[in-house]
Amino acid sequence: MSEKAAGGGGGVKETREFENPYVDWNSRMEIYMEDEKRLIPGITGPLIENCYILLETLEKHLATDVDWQDTTVYTGAAGIALLYMRFLDSELEPGDPKGDFLQDALNYVEPILPSLCKRRISFLCGASGPLAIAATLYYRKGDHKEAEDLLRRLENLENDATASQSYYPDEILYGRAGYLYSLLYIKRKIPEKSEHREKCIREVVKKILESGQRNAKKKKNINKIPLFYEWHNKAYVGAGHGFAGIMYMLLEAKEYMSADQLNSLVRPTVDFVLRQHQKSGNFPSSLGNPRDRLVHWCHGAPGLIYMLLKAHEVFQDEKYLVGARKAADCVWKRGLLRKGYGICHGVSGNAYSFLKMYQHTKELRYLYRAVKFAEWCFDYGKHGCRSPDRSLSLFEGFAGIIYFLLDLLEPEKVAFPGFQL
Ligand SMILES: [Zn+2]
Repeated sequence: MSEKAAGGGGGVKETREFENPYVDWNSRMEIYMEDEKRLIPGITGPLIENCYILLETLEKHLATDVDWQDTTVYTGAAGIALLYMRFLDSELEPGDPKGDFLQDALNYVEPILPSLCKRRISFLCGASGPLAIAATLYYRKGDHKEAEDLLRRLENLENDATASQSYYPDEILYGRAGYLYSLLYIKRKIPEKSEHREKCIREVVKKILESGQRNAKKKKNINKIPLFYEWHNKAYVGAGHGFAGIMYMLLEAKEYMSADQLNSLVRPTVDFVLRQHQKSGNFPSSLGNPRDRLVHWCHGAPGLIYMLLKAHEVFQDEKYLVGARKAADCVWKRGLLRKGYGICHGVSGNAYSFLKMYQHTKELRYLYRAVKFAEWCFDYGKHGCRSPDRSLSLFEGFAGIIYFLLDLLEPEKVAFPGFQL
């Protein structure tokens, strides 16, 4: 890495990212996949090795340093449970240690179940995430009664989320779209059909649409888009707090809305978001803010890719794929962040957007880019980035990097935790 890239430059304004030191993919490069599903051993070997090195360090710290007050998936105990559940689902090489990951996961979610904050509903920062994780774990353990009880608690949150005086925001991190994710997650993880759950999903989708339409009538909506969303009085664009996350989740739940709602509300809003694309391939963090700064999952190009690719799948219009490619090129150029390695606003979160591109296009270029970002993460702590406040956590710290490395071993199955379905 050059001195400039390392940020040592006298008088040079420090950038938010390191210069990407890797050459980009070209077709003469080696084949990365052994077959349709598996990476070649030359790649999986170091991935598994680094996964276990990082897991050992994480567990050493967890032994003395768990904040049980933080129950969230985002920075708390439920995020550690989700990581252990990912280990449970992974198909590691034969001979790799595979402990009792089901029990490890339960150990981090069971103690917090009595103290979940009902005032927050989302998967990542609210009560529905720990409930969904615990219900899935109990179900897999064969304790269907306990799973049912937890699912009832999860579904009861719907009353608050859709009440006429409901004060919840609509975004992913704290709002209704984040609750919708929990319901859709459960639908995939627990095969038994539930009429009540179906009704909950329909009601939440309806409420997000109504809320967006009501906001759209406000003066601030100078662009006259049919759905308008704000969080703390700002119309955010990205996946964490803004339009991209809400639109992505609505598209994932498209079977719960009418063709008219899909085509006259969601589609024009997605198109409007796409028109915010900046020259660099990035997106602004909020409407009316011309700056081009943040390239994170939570704000900027990486988080937009999910909405764009889903829109491509649903509406079959090439412009969404073209937009996603442009965004992915921006992530490749500017995604090695000085902020660190985490999932929310770090290198591993950015790498997930390449994996989503790979799943959608099957182009090795994107898999290669994700592998290079993973290699960057192998040198965790050696680039001089500031340590995050919650350094062990799933979304800011260590656990998230391990989750990403583990996910990368099975590119077909990869899903950005707590967001991608
Ligand atoms: Zn973030």
